[in-house]
Amino acid sequence: MSDEILIHTGLFSPPLVAGRISDKMMQTVLIVGAGLAGAVYARVLAEYGLKVHVIDQRDHIAGNCYDYLDATGVRVHKYGPHLFHTSNQRVVEWLSRFTDWIPYQHKVVARMDGGQEVPLPVNRATVNAVFGTDLKTSADVMAFLKGKTEHRAQIRTAEDHLYAHIGPTLTNFFFRPYTRKMWGTDLQDMDAAVVRRLQIRMDDEDRYFPGDTFQALPKDGYTALFQRLFDHPEITVETGKPFERKMLADHDYCFSSMPIDAFYDYQLGELPYRSIRFHTSRVARAQAPRHVTINYTDDGPFTRETWWHNLPGHCREEGQDVPVTVEEPCDYKDNGMERYYPVKTHDGRYDKLYDRYKMMADAEQNLSFIGRCGTYQYLDMHQVVNQSLTGAGKWLSLHMSNAA
Ligand code: UDP
Repeated sequence: MSDEILIHTGLFSPPLVAGRISDKMMQTVLIVGAGLAGAVYARVLAEYGLKVHVIDQRDHIAGNCYDYLDATGVRVHKYGPHLFHTSNQRVVEWLSRFTDWIPYQHKVVARMDGGQEVPLPVNRATVNAVFGTDLKTSADVMAFLKGKTEHRAQIRTAEDHLYAHIGPTLTNFFFRPYTRKMWGTDLQDMDAAVVRRLQIRMDDEDRYFPGDTFQALPKDGYTALFQRLFDHPEITVETGKPFERKMLADHDYCFSSMPIDAFYDYQLGELPYRSIRFHTSRVARAQAPRHVTINYTDDGPFTRETWWHNLPGHCREEGQDVPVTVEEPCDYKDNGMERYYPVKTHDGRYDKLYDRYKMMADAEQNLSFIGRCGTYQYLDMHQVVNQSLTGAGKWLSLHMSNAA
């Protein structure tokens, strides 16, 4: 559509390692999961001549990045908004071999009681709206918040971080109810890193990812990007195909993005994950707001809504209705075992359990765990791509000769 500005930066994407596969015992690879980690591994290894077999228990590729055209002619991300952002040039260059991009700087507003919408991350306008102040500069905001914050000798929990930076009033407004809904637990139990994902601004910055130099959406959507990633003569993809242990015997190596606890039949206990129930409905276009994402501050069950047609390139038809998706977080067991978010507590108790599973995996010869679920990390897309490029490169180096 007319608002699209296409850019293509994938002109230079050097090989990860020089040489070719020399290990005759490493010819076929099984990849469990056709999501982002699996797709990056598959493509890299196929380009080095390995035969790659990708399976996914879902009936589609692209994992949680999967998107589709809704009946209204608007592209919807089935598993919630995926807004690509990074400052990692290697990641941009590598992905740009498979997609053009539409620049997009994500913005979010929080809806307060009474319907007023204010910027998130918390910035100067947010502070003025909540406290009824008229602070004019960043210095004013900083001085004002100083009187609201609480000293914390050590920042361990999400509450520590927020109380020390914005104080209880803003925390209880924008973070405590949302986090309780999102994680089913209190800020006092969450790792500070979870809320550090959002910046706190004293100025007028209202972009959600202000630190990242590259922010864009794949021009034809994520599913098309994955189709191109998998479009290689050495890659076969089977969807609707759950993993079975006996498959390991038919391949020389396996990269698995499935949850490590499920892989080992929960022998050491369960790793908790949060899931989301997505409620998508259609609304008359004339009634739709101009925002992409609106976060809720109330303590009902829902966290946020996304208006897909407001994302550039997503509205393929100007129909009467547009889709809106409302998110309702829950335990993964209450959503068909669909795992989206690993639970990160301040004491790292589940990370310790993960480490014990990882030791079991390390004892196996031909198996590695990859991706958000396989490594139990709260990773963004660019981090998954980066870790996968690095991981695949290291693995190749172990099995390569330099006689290219
Ligand atoms: N968060 C919050 N209120 C908000 C937005 C985020 O309390 O309005 C907290 C919440 O704990 C959330 C975390 O910050 O899980 C990270 O937010 P982000 O938007 O990065 O979550 P994602 O987009 O990955 O779901």
